[in-house]
Amino acid sequence: MRETNPQKKLIDKFYASRAWRMTRAWVIDRDKGICQSCGEIIFGEMTVHHEINLTPQNVNDPAISLNPELLKTLCHVCHDKAHKRFSGAVRCIERKVIVDDDLNINYKKRQELQKGSVV
Ligand SMILES: [Zn+2]
Repeated sequence: MRETNPQKKLIDKFYASRAWRMTRAWVIDRDKGICQSCGEIIFGEMTVHHEINLTPQNVNDPAISLNPELLKTLCHVCHDKAHKRFSGAVRCIERKVIVDDDLNINYKKRQELQKGSVV
């Protein structure tokens, strides 16, 4: 029952890496904290969105995972839209929770989350 999934760990490790944090900060600075989708100045939560979804296969390829050309700052509303298949109640749930390593949506898990009061 232990939740050790080496592939998922790869992506977690990436998001915790110094390289990502620096790239993320650089992208936000480049975009001046303005949502690149709706053009609003972001006062709340900012997300740096990967145009190409990260997978265990590409996460360690800096040309994808750390390429500023493939990264843009989004407000959380537009980021929700960018991932609209995970709509509504699951917006604050990291996609890794409901997506398996083959990027299939875990509908059962998503339903559980939507039933709960997780917002
Ligand atoms: Zn926006």
